[in-house]
Amino acid sequence: MALLRNHIAAITGAGSGIGRAIASGYAREGARVVLLDINATAAAEAAREIRDAGGKAESFALDVTRRDDCHAVARQIADIAGPVSILVNNAGITRRNGISGATEAVIKDWEDIIAINLTGVFNVTHAFMDSLRATRGRIVNIGSVQSFMHLRTPTSPAYTASKHGVLGLTRALAAELGKDGVRVNAIGPGFIETPLNEKVRASDPGLVKIFVDHTPLGRAGKPEDIVGPAIFLASDLSAFVTGSIVMADGGYRTI
Ligand code: NAP
Repeated sequence: MALLRNHIAAITGAGSGIGRAIASGYAREGARVVLLDINATAAAEAAREIRDAGGKAESFALDVTRRDDCHAVARQIADIAGPVSILVNNAGITRRNGISGATEAVIKDWEDIIAINLTGVFNVTHAFMDSLRATRGRIVNIGSVQSFMHLRTPTSPAYTASKHGVLGLTRALAAELGKDGVRVNAIGPGFIETPLNEKVRASDPGLVKIFVDHTPLGRAGKPEDIVGPAIFLASDLSAFVTGSIVMADGGYRTI
């Protein structure tokens, strides 16, 4: 069953981790995938891997904080591939400092995280709006358990604020774009083993244990754990679902 045949899907942060897994999963379901990442080499390599496996993929360098570049890349993709009907806003960073550190560092964390994780979602969505309206498209935003809560493990206020913002933006856009047939949903991953948390996993196994002990399914997630929900929200299987967040967190928020 090819659930995404005839779709063109753009995925930000697709050179690594969750975005890379979603791009491969969408390609397996028949979508033509466009991988966008600040790391052009990683995106190109991931696209090549998909093509080698028989999928349709291309890649572009994109820093989601650069608004003009977002619009330029959206125009380029429309010219080369056609209108994007699925957008996955996945690019994100994290830092694990509170508000009590050195002022310059605290301010830099705030500005970088909000610029990428929240304003980046706005920039890219705005850039693809014409294509998404024309195709009655689907937007999938990557939130977090931190769309609902802060964590006791080291993390920054900016990260929690940005992911709360992603959920708010998801709901606002779902409300506005429903009349155009555009559906907007989010996924809330729990702790997923990716390069984003590679360092902390290596240096602080106690942190992973705190997560796993709090997770009813008793394990950390893998990028592949996010692929099924991402296919569901992009496909007609979720035709009456909008403004929702699908938690893929092993049950973290239930206890
Ligand atoms: P990842 O492996 O670090 O992948 C993120 C990708 O986004 C990287 O290729 C990164 O490039 C790229 N990127 C960073 N800044 C960018 C920018 N300005 N413009 C475009 N691309 C940019 O992280 P991940 O764990 O897959 O995370 C993906 C999303 O899931 C993020 O939104 C994250 O907040 C969310 N999430 C992750 C977890 C988790 O436990 N892993 C849990 C909840 C939510 P560089 O490597 O060059 O920076």
